[in-house]
Amino acid sequence: MPKKRVLVGYGIDVDAVANWINTGDGSPQNPTNVSRGIFGATVGIDRLLKLYEKYNIKCTFFTPAHTLESFPEQLAKVRDAGHELGLHGYTHEYISDLPAKEQQAVLTKSIDVLTQFCGKKPQGYTAPAWTTSKELIPQLEQAGIVYDHSFMHHDVQPYWAPDSSHTWVETDVKKEAVQWMSPMTKLMPSKVVEIPANWHVDDWPPLQPKGPYGYVDTHVVERMWREQFDFAYREYDTFIFPMSIHPQVSGKPQVILMHERLIEHINSHEGVEWMPLGEMAEEFRSGRFPGVSVEGGADVKR
Ligand SMILES: [Zn+2]
Repeated sequence: MPKKRVLVGYGIDVDAVANWINTGDGSPQNPTNVSRGIFGATVGIDRLLKLYEKYNIKCTFFTPAHTLESFPEQLAKVRDAGHELGLHGYTHEYISDLPAKEQQAVLTKSIDVLTQFCGKKPQGYTAPAWTTSKELIPQLEQAGIVYDHSFMHHDVQPYWAPDSSHTWVETDVKKEAVQWMSPMTKLMPSKVVEIPANWHVDDWPPLQPKGPYGYVDTHVVERMWREQFDFAYREYDTFIFPMSIHPQVSGKPQVILMHERLIEHINSHEGVEWMPLGEMAEEFRSGRFPGVSVEGGADVKR
C-alpha cells in the first residue's frame, strides 16, 4: 500500500459577538444572543485551547477584527499558544452584500488590525458565512494573502483558487431562452491557494440551537465526519481534512467530547499530520503536497 500523507486541521471561526451584531440593516440584536457570542470568545476559546494543548494540535483561528478588538486578552492566549490567526471580516459582514469599495475597506482594516496584533501579516482568509463575491479573489491576490478558505470546488484537496474571470449567465425565465442558454467560460487559476470550505464538516449548521430542539445529536455528527475522513483515507494517498468550528458551538461540553473522539479516531491512522491551514497552503504552494487543479468551462468569448 502506498504511503499516506494526510494533513488535518481545524479552522476556528471566532465569530463571537460580531456574527450576532451583523444584522445587516442595523436593527438591534437580542442581548441573549450577544451573550452567546461572549461565551464563545471567553469560555469557548479557553476550552478549545485546552483541548488542543492536550492533543498537541496547532490550528487556525479566523477572527473578525471586531472580536480581536473586543477580546484582545483572549486572542492573545490563542496567539501566544502558537496558533495561526486568520482574517474573517470586521463584524462578520457578508461581503456578498457589499459593493467592491466597502469589501476593500473591510479587508484593509482587518489586515491592519491582525498585522498589528501579531507583528506579521495574516496569510489566510475565510469569508463570513462563506458568502463570497466576484471581487474576493482579485482583492486577496492584490493584498498578498496567500490562501483562502471559502470556496468548495473540491472537499479534500488544495488547489489554486480560480480567478474571477470566468462568467456564467443566470437563467432568467422572463427573457427568451436563447439569451441564457450559454456555457460557463473557462476557469483560470489565480495566485491564491484554496484550502476548501465544506459545510459537511462545520459544527454550526447541525449543532447550534435554532429554537429549543433545533440541533443534531453529536454522535450523529461525529459519525458523519468520521465517514468523510474514512472515505477520503480509502480513496486518496494524499488529502487534506480541514474542519470548521466555532467556539460558541464546539466549546459546549458534549461537542468537546465529540472532538476528543474524532481526534483519537483520526490519530489512529498512519500518515496523519495536524497543522494550521496556513501550513497546508504552504505545503501545496511549495510543491511538497500535490493537490489538484480545477478545470472546467468552455472556450467561448462573452
Ligand atoms: Zn464565521
